[in-house]
Amino acid sequence: MIQYPKNIVIRNIGTLYGLSQEPYSFKRGKALAVVQSASNQYLYIKDGKIAKFGNDDSCPIQDAKVIDAEGGIVMPTYIDTHTHIVFAASRDEEFVMRIEGASYEEIAKNGGGILNSAKKLRDTDQADLYASAKARLDQMVQMGTGAVEIKSGYGLSTESEIKMLEVIKELNLNTDVDIKATFLGAHAIPTPYKADRQQYISKIINEMLPHIAKHSLADYCDVFCDKGFYTVEETAQILTAAAEYGLKPKIHANELDVSGGVQVGIQHSALSVDHLECTTPEEWKALSESSTIPTLLPGTSFFLKIAYGEARQMIDYGLGLVLASDFNPGSTPAGSMHFIQSLGCIYMQMLPSETFNATTYNAAAAIEVEDTLGRIDIGMQANVQILKSVTNINQIPYYYGSNPTDVTILRGKIQ
Ligand SMILES: [Zn+2]
Repeated sequence: MIQYPKNIVIRNIGTLYGLSQEPYSFKRGKALAVVQSASNQYLYIKDGKIAKFGNDDSCPIQDAKVIDAEGGIVMPTYIDTHTHIVFAASRDEEFVMRIEGASYEEIAKNGGGILNSAKKLRDTDQADLYASAKARLDQMVQMGTGAVEIKSGYGLSTESEIKMLEVIKELNLNTDVDIKATFLGAHAIPTPYKADRQQYISKIINEMLPHIAKHSLADYCDVFCDKGFYTVEETAQILTAAAEYGLKPKIHANELDVSGGVQVGIQHSALSVDHLECTTPEEWKALSESSTIPTLLPGTSFFLKIAYGEARQMIDYGLGLVLASDFNPGSTPAGSMHFIQSLGCIYMQMLPSETFNATTYNAAAAIEVEDTLGRIDIGMQANVQILKSVTNINQIPYYYGSNPTDVTILRGKIQ
């Protein structure tokens, strides 16, 4: 049986945000701006779950460790549904090349980009990969993140892809973070297969997928369906094979072009289609008629200085959105979901209440944890953060660049 520490009561909460006592319903259109809250609250955590909350003046809890929120806010921890935090080394040299004028695509064509990360990963052993990924994850937790999806995709060989997925599995076992693993063998075409792409794709299908499924190393399957990467037909081929092993798709689509990635994702019942810097009303219509979740990654737009996804137009069209960090060494070397909220507000004209839901309540559905995480209700897993210096959720994106999270509690444990 899991041993929980002494129960916790958070007192003197100025405002408790993210309350939800109704059955889960992914927020679309105008509903995305609705955040329920209550002022002057206490929150009681027992055996890793939210046990009670209510007016702080009449708090009945006696035997528990008391944390004083000092009149600040308490909210659910973030759910970061798209990351690549297992990587061997930074790519700061490419950062400088871009400052000097090279584009992301030019760097990729010259052996940089994902292939650069793959080369570095091949030469790094599993223990070192684990240590650096764990350090990144710890930092994210201190910034209020409590659940993450992590992708492979810097292996690009059977051995190295498995090595990455083993690291993700270890992170899941050794931390209080809820982690979902995504197999992204189709992140790029490795150089030796450039002339015979199909040979690499059959390696994914006949070698990688069976092993990964047999050892339960992944929850989802991803393909980078975009200009210069995988075609719509190749994406369909890989997703069809993954479905036979029960791996649902979560795919990279429409970052560099209107690639057809959204449509092929929907056709294969993708849980989410991520990036979407390039979309047209045709994609919005297709998404609105499906259960596939549109996920925008504004950190990539910021760091690569490319267009932002049209979040405002998509929400006004009636869609629901998720925002994620895309933390990775090439296009987004950052995992602060506070900052992702700032980018959503400043560059994509989202309201702070919308970015709040897109990183908590809605995000839960994009990695299928909506029954336990992403909102405050009795019986939910106790994943909450205390922001003592913040008095309302508008101030989170407003004070961009800071980390307002003072305490992160995951599964009822102070981190
Ligand atoms: Zn990504």
